[in-house]
Amino acid sequence: MSVNLQTPIDYLKGVGPNRADLLRKELGIYTYQDLINLFPNRYIDRTRYYKVNELQRNNADVQVVGTITKFEEVAQKNGKRLVATFQDETGTMELVWFRGLKWIRESLKLNKPYVAFGKTNWFSGKYNMPHPELELLEEHEKNIRSAMQPIYPSTEKLSNKGISNRVINKIIQHLFVETKGQFSETLSENLLSELKLISKKEALFNIHFPKSQELLAKAQFRLKFEELFYIQLQLLIKNLIHKSKIKGFPFEKVGSYFNTFFKDHLPFELTNAQKRVLKEIRADLGSNAQMNRLLQGDVGSGKTIVALMSMLIALDNGFQACLMAPTEILSVQHYNRLYELCNSLNISIKILTGSSKTLERKEIHESLENGELQILIGTHALLEDKVKFKNLGLAIIDEQHRFGVAQRSKLWHKNLSPPHILVMTATPIPRTLAMSVYGDLDISIIDELPPGRKQVKTVHRYDKNRLNVFRFIRDEIEKGRQIYIVYPLIQESEKMDYKDLMDGYESIARDFPMPKYQISIVHGKMKPADKEYEMQRFIKGETQIMVATTVIEVGVNVPNASVMIIESAERFGLSQLHQLRGRVGRGAEQSYCILMTGHKLSNDSKTRLETMVRTNDGFEIAEVDLRLRGPGDIMGTQQSGVLNLKIADIIKDNDILKSARYHAKRILNNDPTLTSTENKVLLHTYKQLSKYKNIWNYIS
Ligand code: ADP
Ligand code: MG
Repeated sequence: MSVNLQTPIDYLKGVGPNRADLLRKELGIYTYQDLINLFPNRYIDRTRYYKVNELQRNNADVQVVGTITKFEEVAQKNGKRLVATFQDETGTMELVWFRGLKWIRESLKLNKPYVAFGKTNWFSGKYNMPHPELELLEEHEKNIRSAMQPIYPSTEKLSNKGISNRVINKIIQHLFVETKGQFSETLSENLLSELKLISKKEALFNIHFPKSQELLAKAQFRLKFEELFYIQLQLLIKNLIHKSKIKGFPFEKVGSYFNTFFKDHLPFELTNAQKRVLKEIRADLGSNAQMNRLLQGDVGSGKTIVALMSMLIALDNGFQACLMAPTEILSVQHYNRLYELCNSLNISIKILTGSSKTLERKEIHESLENGELQILIGTHALLEDKVKFKNLGLAIIDEQHRFGVAQRSKLWHKNLSPPHILVMTATPIPRTLAMSVYGDLDISIIDELPPGRKQVKTVHRYDKNRLNVFRFIRDEIEKGRQIYIVYPLIQESEKMDYKDLMDGYESIARDFPMPKYQISIVHGKMKPADKEYEMQRFIKGETQIMVATTVIEVGVNVPNASVMIIESAERFGLSQLHQLRGRVGRGAEQSYCILMTGHKLSNDSKTRLETMVRTNDGFEIAEVDLRLRGPGDIMGTQQSGVLNLKIADIIKDNDILKSARYHAKRILNNDPTLTSTENKVLLHTYKQLSKYKNIWNYIS
């Protein structure tokens, strides 16, 4: 007989209605199954006893044997706390309670040996242990002690209400007794044998009651693999379903636009990475399925030409194409770069932004609908309902982190049939994360810069060295180069930022006086037309210095600009710093990035600055960023569920993730519908998963 794991937790021995209620509210545990999948956060050695003089200031869990020599109630801001002096032969520490003082005081005995277990803090010259688990030594010695005692996730409320780690441990024991530890297998025989995984049953037992270090490690590996494997399987299946359901326009041929461009107008030889990526895109466009591809490439890796050539394929097949960028400046720039080319190929191209005039708009709307207009470049304005294409075949979105998923899908609905979608991003998403977050997109990577690029030299300078930095700027301008000076723009203190920018501008204007020096200034409070005017002056080389907020962060291309100075660099995130640095190093000259900061720096800021100085590799930087910030801030992670992992760690378990993805792919390649006998168990589990949403709510 097997116990139904969907049984409410209330029925389990040792739980009861009150505890069940708390477990539901605090940990989301409703059923036996939820409880079995409450995996320990970590394990501690309960066979090791510390002396007071061995304690370290590391906030670790320890157990100490000693006696309580006195109690004291200390008044504090809100109420009182109870402090017990706890002593062994090497010294004294304090045990502290903030709640339940009366009961605790009455139940504890003075001068009797106890084992105190908990985390220690260092506070005004002494160690203290708040709300310790206390057990009389003679009782303690009757219990079995493990070197791998599991520590379960908990909340303050749970421990306040007496649901300690020990209690959770006990009820999980009851659960194993009631179910006789019989849990069905959720991975296929093949996977188990190929990866030498232990069975589900064994893994669950050892994760809760490790028999040895070795078995614990095996249990962890098996459960992490399983968790990541099913996430990957879900993503890949979603992708397969998408491809089979949503028909794209098959672009069967590569025609004269593409070929003429390739033969007569290609301004440089494509890098191998660009060629590879174009092939990948070409294959997608030629298939029957709708393309849904993410193109990742570091700043300056040459994504624009790939975008253009993809659009030419669309045009060759009689379709329209559009390219959407996050800012007006960027749209204009794309437009300017593509305009002449399109002219020489006899292609009609227009730009649509927030500042397009009514008449212009009308013309654009009309020529889009009747199909005369072939390529439309623009901002969010492209998403307006009025913008209707005759036959949009390919939509390209540049710098995708600025746009949400919702916007992506809005482009889809501009047609009866969805256009092919190419999303380009210069914020490299670490491969690890991309695999889990964008598993339902296909990914192309340009991992090679055009030849002859010199690495940008990056240095960190303190504000007090500003005079040297100014001297350096002067020398570079002397050589005919242009300079960016960027100030932070952080929403919360917009006023302050504006003031910093203006103060900075004034001091720069003083040191670099007209008419010898000309300075452009660009910031968010300016009208688009004024911004554009200032940008153009810099692009044309009429000004040598561009003082700006981060509006220039993405995409701006001025090859002659060779110095990027970032003020208050400690206030920028890593990916932003990297984006900004990408504005220089675009020409043949040696370029420089100077990170200016004050003297006081947090550890994270130091790491960010050191990383920038050490490497130019966007992917490496993205990995550090991920470690510093966690995956939460990275676009798309919220929806993807990678943050709700129960046991695997998206960063540390990178290798397991790769293996999980590899195997999920391999299995689906051979058996896309998972109908073979061998894969029955996978299909069953997958279906359970879709039913219960949470990866772990499925064993039946
Ligand atoms: P990003 O990937 O940042 O959008 P761009 O497409 O703006 O990069 O390209 C950056 C610069 O490199 C542009 O000036 C572009 O003309 C140039 N470029 C792109 N591909 C090549 C190549 N294969 N060889 C030489 N220069 C290239
Ligand atoms: Mg670009």
